[in-house]
Amino acid sequence: MENKKLDTRRGFIRKVGIGSAFAAFGSGAVISSCTVKETKEKSAPDAALNLGLQEGVVPGESLNEKLDFMEANGVYGLEVGGGNLPARITEFQNALQNRKVKISAICAGFKGWLIATDEAERTKCMESSKEILQAAGALGSYGMILVPGFNGQQPSFPFVEARAILIDQLKELGEFALSHNTSVILEPLNRKEAWFLRQVADAAAICRDVDSKGVTCMGDFWHMTWEETDDMGAFISGQNYLNHVHIASRKTRNTPGEDEGDNYVNGFKALKMINYSHYVSFECGSKGDKGIVVPAALKLLREQWDMA
Ligand code: MG
Repeated sequence: MENKKLDTRRGFIRKVGIGSAFAAFGSGAVISSCTVKETKEKSAPDAALNLGLQEGVVPGESLNEKLDFMEANGVYGLEVGGGNLPARITEFQNALQNRKVKISAICAGFKGWLIATDEAERTKCMESSKEILQAAGALGSYGMILVPGFNGQQPSFPFVEARAILIDQLKELGEFALSHNTSVILEPLNRKEAWFLRQVADAAAICRDVDSKGVTCMGDFWHMTWEETDDMGAFISGQNYLNHVHIASRKTRNTPGEDEGDNYVNGFKALKMINYSHYVSFECGSKGDKGIVVPAALKLLREQWDMA
């Protein structure tokens, strides 16, 4: 999965991290010398597609069966949930020994929310996020995916106040993440799930304003289908802040290729343009047998990456 011309996640961690640890769905090493931006400045016409799968998407009963499936199919990024992560660190560390598979990112799992009017909810989110970020760092993850507030999480501050208080908290959370060699990854969702953060450009602008190397963003093709006018424009707007990508079929959020006309070529073109070298990770359900539709999806995406 690693392209020597690109910074791998481990490379990202080594450059960004300190001596301590950048972890969970991220990486880490000497914080002061490098930024997320710097990892992506070079252009790589032969950029590699680094595919990943969420744990629940991988066929197999046990973790080891899932890892066998991934390696047999040339997929080396495993995305896991943050909910019970601190208790699973040893399990993952043991399972990943002598494997090519790495932890790509940690999907949420935090409690509370950062744009809550109730200080107790904001504190809950900060504290639970820090526990997950610490675990993320221990596992060498690029970062932990964070949603500032879902539609159902009320009361929340109105937009202008919400953005300001979010940025204040992200400054602290970003520096905490960096000290553990990992990062916060802001995820824009579609309007049915979140009113506050819906587009990649908005997430990137928050990263810019936070101005911490430990705060990054991502794009999810599923949400982008409904919120972005153009996949290419969206990913380009994410620029050097883009740290993770989710993918699913475009009409029903199943395995890529299970909906007619699933097309990711313009998005992939943009990922090549910005020299994106982190993971494109499946976050989806499936209509068919996962043992059949997941390998078919991997083939489809590799073909579309080559076309891009
Ligand atoms: Mg997602």
